[in-house]
Amino acid sequence: MRKKQGLLIILDGLGDRPNQELNGMTPLESAKTPNLDYLASRGMCGNVYPISPGIRVGTDVGHLHIFGYDSNEVYSGRGPLEAASAGMELMPGDVAFRGNFATIEEDYTVVDRRAGRIREGTNELAAAISGLILSDGTQVFAKELTEHRVAIILRNKDLSDKISCTDPGTAEEGKKLDIPRPLENTSSAEKTAKNLWEFTMRSYKILKEHPVNKQRHAQGLQMANAIITRGAGQQKHIPSIKHIYNIKAACVAGDLTVGGIAKLVGMDYFTHESFTGSFDTNLLGKAEMAVELLNEKNYDWVVMHVKATDLAGHDNLPAVKKEMIEKVDGVIGHILSKIDLNECYISFTADHSTPCEARDHTGDGVPTIIAGGDVRKDSVTSAGEAQFMAGSLNNLTANDIFMMQMDLLGFTEKVGS
Ligand SMILES: [Zn+2]
Repeated sequence: MRKKQGLLIILDGLGDRPNQELNGMTPLESAKTPNLDYLASRGMCGNVYPISPGIRVGTDVGHLHIFGYDSNEVYSGRGPLEAASAGMELMPGDVAFRGNFATIEEDYTVVDRRAGRIREGTNELAAAISGLILSDGTQVFAKELTEHRVAIILRNKDLSDKISCTDPGTAEEGKKLDIPRPLENTSSAEKTAKNLWEFTMRSYKILKEHPVNKQRHAQGLQMANAIITRGAGQQKHIPSIKHIYNIKAACVAGDLTVGGIAKLVGMDYFTHESFTGSFDTNLLGKAEMAVELLNEKNYDWVVMHVKATDLAGHDNLPAVKKEMIEKVDGVIGHILSKIDLNECYISFTADHSTPCEARDHTGDGVPTIIAGGDVRKDSVTSAGEAQFMAGSLNNLTANDIFMMQMDLLGFTEKVGS
């Protein structure tokens, strides 16, 4: 079958609900979007469920489904994802955690879960911990992430992720660290819980004496003298998208979580320091990079991700969300001037809805378009949740949309002979 190319644009948390501030319209409905309207008129539209109606998903799970996976089969918690985001290589049996640099007292009372939102020196602190060998030979690996975040891996035979972690939670500070407990009656869970506690105590001894913390103390800043952990997970095997579909796929994003997921599923991840994962991200730079990957690097499928729409939803800023959509629409105009819709399909979707008034992810369908030369056209000609209810993709799922793209691109196997 003849192969074609595809570009998928993901606006994180795009889906919304009628908003009073926008005269009862959603941000997408009220935004001026001539280019999205054009794409809508050149193909199929609808509100698509990340998993199924009413199911709320996180960004990680939402993207797994957009990339064609069933999270029930491949999702193994946040720890392994954070490790992938940090560029760490997970081996089978490793237990990974998402961690924070935190400030604690001698008696393990948490003073600040984010160590004063430390930004500087976390690479040195992580390097001082990474390589630590625990008393039973378990190896510890640590790698800093943005701000106070850090990824931790424990490596040995017979470890288990069925343990509780040390982070006492997001409630008010002043609680003591939780002592890890096995969550199942196995020697591997017991051993891992002991290891996590030994790691916590030994890293405290190292971190509190570290020059970065001596300096912070001298400057009156909170010391990053502990690492608190949550989200223990062992990586499940995720078959690579390259192997399943024999496709060369890339992801352009500033958000490290999305980049980590893309890498986990076998996509090449491209980013740039100007891609901030926030409102000031370099949208045109992302578009230029996506176009280059398609036109010059011959990628079959390129995903371009924009995070700021989700942030606007969480912060209840409908006007800002609308403005961000209009900016993306302008950039889509630029993409359309560089890409031939007869050779490259352009699709548009979101990982979940983050309605401004809800300030959180909801289980609503997400606005979705598949457009291109020979795509069947439905009657929808403008972009918006209300308009898309009449579209041919309405009520399908993210997995359905992925398979439809693979079919258009010519990367699916025939069932039967
Ligand atoms: Zn999201």
